[in-house]
Amino acid sequence: MRSVSLIEFSWLYDEHKRLLWDEFLKLFYLHLEDKEDINPFYFNLLLLAIRKWDKQNPKRVICESYINLLKYEKRLQPKRVCFICETAIRDKVSLMRGFKVTHPECIKSHPIATKKVINFLDTNNSIFLEDNEIDTILVAVMKGF
Ligand SMILES: [Zn+2]
Repeated sequence: MRSVSLIEFSWLYDEHKRLLWDEFLKLFYLHLEDKEDINPFYFNLLLLAIRKWDKQNPKRVICESYINLLKYEKRLQPKRVCFICETAIRDKVSLMRGFKVTHPECIKSHPIATKKVINFLDTNNSIFLEDNEIDTILVAVMKGF
């Protein structure tokens, strides 16, 4: 038992991974603090994330978990129309808080290829995104669930 927990939580000694975990937990806390009945979905989402934390880039785990949360809460917005100016999305997009899709110039954020972002939102999988693109998307997540 002891050895299992040491293996599972070896990343606790990795400051970068531990700090990201603290940030991730804080997002959950702030999102759920006013709710009286918390659905097991959120607990299971955290369990899934903690299992992946050591094996995958935790930034990707956060972004992918967040899509699952948005889909569970039915909050994912239309992907082909800019949330700010309400005109059609072109070849590059940015993501706002809540993964609302916008033109990069509408929120002055780093552009990412629309095709990649839509694939990410549809599949909950960040495999086609570069690490710097994940960093850009993570900024949107860290603004709050
Ligand atoms: Zn726009």
